[in-house]
Amino acid sequence: MGRAFVYVIIGGGVAGGYAAHEFVKRGVSQGELCIISEETVAPYERPALSKGYLLPEDPARLPSFHCCVGSNEERLAPKWYKENGIELILGTRVKSADVRRKTLLTATGETISYKYLIIATGARALKLEEFGVNALDATNVCYLRDLADADRLVDVIQSSSGGNAVVIGGGYIGMECAASLVINKLNVTMVFPEAQCMARLFTPKIANYYEEFYQSKGIKFIKGTVLTSFDFNSDGKVTAVNLRDGTKLPADLVVIGIGIRPNTSLFEGQLTMEKGGIKVNGKMQSSNASVYAVGDVAAFPVRIVSDTRRLEHVDSARKSARHAVSAIVDPTNTGEFDYLPFFYSRVFTLSWQFYGDNSGEAVHFGEFDKTTFGAYWVNNGVLVGSFLEGGTKEQYEAMALVSRVKPRVEDLGELERLGLEFALSVKEKPSPAAGEIIVVGGGGGGGASGGGGVGVVVEKPLYGWHAAAGVIVAASIAAFAYWYGRRRRRW
Ligand SMILES: Cc1cc2nc3c(=O)[nH]c(=O)nc-3n(C[C@H](O)[C@H](O)[C@H](O)COP(=O)(O)OP(=O)(O)OC[C@H]3O[C@@H](n4cnc5c(N)ncnc54)[C@H](O)[C@@H]3O)c2cc1C
Repeated sequence: MGRAFVYVIIGGGVAGGYAAHEFVKRGVSQGELCIISEETVAPYERPALSKGYLLPEDPARLPSFHCCVGSNEERLAPKWYKENGIELILGTRVKSADVRRKTLLTATGETISYKYLIIATGARALKLEEFGVNALDATNVCYLRDLADADRLVDVIQSSSGGNAVVIGGGYIGMECAASLVINKLNVTMVFPEAQCMARLFTPKIANYYEEFYQSKGIKFIKGTVLTSFDFNSDGKVTAVNLRDGTKLPADLVVIGIGIRPNTSLFEGQLTMEKGGIKVNGKMQSSNASVYAVGDVAAFPVRIVSDTRRLEHVDSARKSARHAVSAIVDPTNTGEFDYLPFFYSRVFTLSWQFYGDNSGEAVHFGEFDKTTFGAYWVNNGVLVGSFLEGGTKEQYEAMALVSRVKPRVEDLGELERLGLEFALSVKEKPSPAAGEIIVVGGGGGGGASGGGGVGVVVEKPLYGWHAAAGVIVAASIAAFAYWYGRRRRRW
């Protein structure tokens, strides 16, 4: 038994949903596209699972968060796939793939062939057993990757009311779950081996802010140690968590958030791998020309950091999926994927966004005892990334732009003093003609082109994408301060 499609997407998660949306926008014909997904529901916005889904009152439930509501676009309920002639094969795992023959074999025994394949298999949660800790399938030890996990977690939360929850891991899942558990009135302790939460992204100063905020909500932190074993009752439920430092924590509920592993196994030995994922080029095309990879599973060239990265974030999943579809259906008009890394989180009343790269030296700004503060990262004299907590839409847009523009920074102290105003003023600058780089400096450097005494220097673009973006501003912070002071006095 078998069916043939022009386009097949494996994985009905975020990237699968956004890819389908893009295919329809570009006029895919009825019967040409098929999505095969192990999950039993149509693609949805996965970040909702650790946020609205866990709320005790008026929780988010499907169909409210099907793709693509996360980017304020239409909501693709199952009906939408039907209306657009897309074959949505749910609850079905692809168990093997043959990229030479262009065929997939499903767990139900069906062979599906394709002309173009998009791999959107995402990642799976790392299990304790992979680290030598046996949870013996205890019903109150929870992971959080998909809807089934979320439903199980909700059940355990409801049956543990007023009890003790232990969260293992201080990353995204750990932080968001801990907040949700405390909102559900559990006593929460977070345990992780690092010296701070969100160690891969946050500076110690940023982490300290969130840890203090969490502590003010009653969450306890035990850092620098790991889980070694559980105590069980006669029903096989975990009753306590044992840590390497000798601590025993009573537990009615344990959430494990210790990382993820990309779902690449179908393609090991068939496609080139890098950074734990499927290596693709700037069109999201793998080492096999008919096969594309998107979302968490794809390792792609991130031009702005001149590196290949595998990102585990929803914005990257959405945009890489759209780009792959564009590259497949309109190759001549699709350039290289030019992605600015973007991560965000929302917990309690807090909300942060990060753009770019967190390499080099961090320059903090704002009032860390209040609601709006942030940081820039400066690497080799260039601003490469930015972080902002508690910003407005306009402020976040400014942070994104400044991280995209990558201004030159000569004076870290000035950057710190200017803080958010620096990003906002870059945003306010009128765009120069496409293909120009403006250096706001002390008037030095060749090619001065006026700028009202500001010392604007126009240079030729270094990269084609700069020209495409329309503007690149490299700013000398000291001179910028001068310019900004004048501007403020004027208005
Ligand atoms: C609880 C949670 C909260 C998150 N919150 C945030 C956040 O606040 N901000 C942020 O930026 N990112 C967040 N993320 C990360 C974000 O959701 C992911 O980066 C995004 O979902 C990746 O999309 P994807 O399509 O690559 O993978 P997924 O969305 O994971 O989809 C993969 C799909 O492929 C299916 N699949 C896998 N293997 C097979 C197979 N062999 N056969 C058939 N189907 C298969 C899976 O069942 C799944 O449906 C969160 C993730 C989780 C789990």
